[in-house]
Amino acid sequence: MTTSEQLFEKAKTLIPGGVNSPVRAFRAVGGSPLFIKSGKGPYVYDEDGRQYIELINSWGPMILGHAFEPVEKAVRDAIQYSFSFGAPTRKEVEMAELIVSMVPSIEKVRMVNSGTEATMAAIRVARGFTGRDKIIKFEGCYHGHGDSFLIAAGSGAVTMGVPDSPGVTKATAADTLTAPYNNLAAVEVLLDNNQNQVAALILEPVVGNMGCVIPEPGFLQGVRDLCNKHGVVLIFDEVMTGFRLAKGGAQERFGITPDLTTLGKIIGGGMPVGAYGGRAEIMNVVSPAGPVYQAGTLSGNPIAMSAGLAMLHHLNDHPDVYTRLDEIGEKLATGFRAGLQKAGLNYTINQIGSMFTLFMTERSVSDFADAKSCDLPLFGRYFHAMLKRGVYLAPSQFESLFVSVALTNDLIDEVIQANEEALLEVMSD
Ligand code: PMP
Repeated sequence: MTTSEQLFEKAKTLIPGGVNSPVRAFRAVGGSPLFIKSGKGPYVYDEDGRQYIELINSWGPMILGHAFEPVEKAVRDAIQYSFSFGAPTRKEVEMAELIVSMVPSIEKVRMVNSGTEATMAAIRVARGFTGRDKIIKFEGCYHGHGDSFLIAAGSGAVTMGVPDSPGVTKATAADTLTAPYNNLAAVEVLLDNNQNQVAALILEPVVGNMGCVIPEPGFLQGVRDLCNKHGVVLIFDEVMTGFRLAKGGAQERFGITPDLTTLGKIIGGGMPVGAYGGRAEIMNVVSPAGPVYQAGTLSGNPIAMSAGLAMLHHLNDHPDVYTRLDEIGEKLATGFRAGLQKAGLNYTINQIGSMFTLFMTERSVSDFADAKSCDLPLFGRYFHAMLKRGVYLAPSQFESLFVSVALTNDLIDEVIQANEEALLEVMSD
């Protein structure tokens, strides 16, 4: 037994399923999860001392690679002043100022501790602002584990086979309306049939949680126009795309202005941080400025703010990071396509900037139904064939991969070579 296997056996007796977040358990791909001990730059190392090239990067946050020195130093510097106060600090003001300057639509922002908290608060704010109850989300999008979002949910929810989770009340579920991604006509029907009842429409402006799915030309603008017409608060969930697809996120890349934005992952530099923000008029309903309640003992935590500030300052000051991320994403996608061709496969790769997914289906993938047509057992075998070659992918077909700038050209070539070999291996099984 490996050390990881031993730890997993013990963990299963103490933690539900042995993990603190479901997809980590490797259920979808089979086998036992790796227990990770450390990470540096483009690599992580498991408890058995094996090295892996990272293509998940903590599901997004480690965009500059693991243990990036300026972030590490900021945390070291901060801890000498104590770890939490539950009182306002200078760093929170600096953080708010930086976010407002980087994300085009955000005029005011509130810090929270995770992406889930950010999205839960954002819909409460939209409901408080509009006085309406319903929300619209898209099938296959994942917005964290808040009750209202576990309806046709992507990511771990679909990976575990529970896109509609038990435990969500019928009354809550009834307030969440769903439409297929990239389908404006379906959104229009929902809005027409629920006049003056829809508070918010929330979406991932580029989806990461059914694998990477890219908005078709005109889709985001169409959604913006429909929200304007019906007085619906448009929420871009940029927990994945924020500070990744551009320094101002997908909204900058596509030039569309949402009313509210939710953020997470990169914003904390690897620490547990989320945020929601947007038009001042809407954010002013948040307590204590307004009546919509939302709070947090550890919100704006000084250590987390220090890590996040170091991360965001670096991204803000180095626009070349985004040019390089785009280049890495394109190189990988091109190399993976060549690998597919050599293996005689006509499968689909969706890629934008540093997000990409190899879908084990011949369908082009623009919504949840397309994503669900993938050959999942084949993905599981491919995942392990890559792992064997030292490449750590997300252990589910319904996830995007996230690259970091720590990936050198030599490592990109290694990953491309591993992909080619892995595809040939699984096809000859
Ligand atoms: N929204 C999106 C788009 C996400 O990808 C995620 C997490 N992957 C969340 C919300 C929830 O964030 P967290 O896991 O930090 O609660």
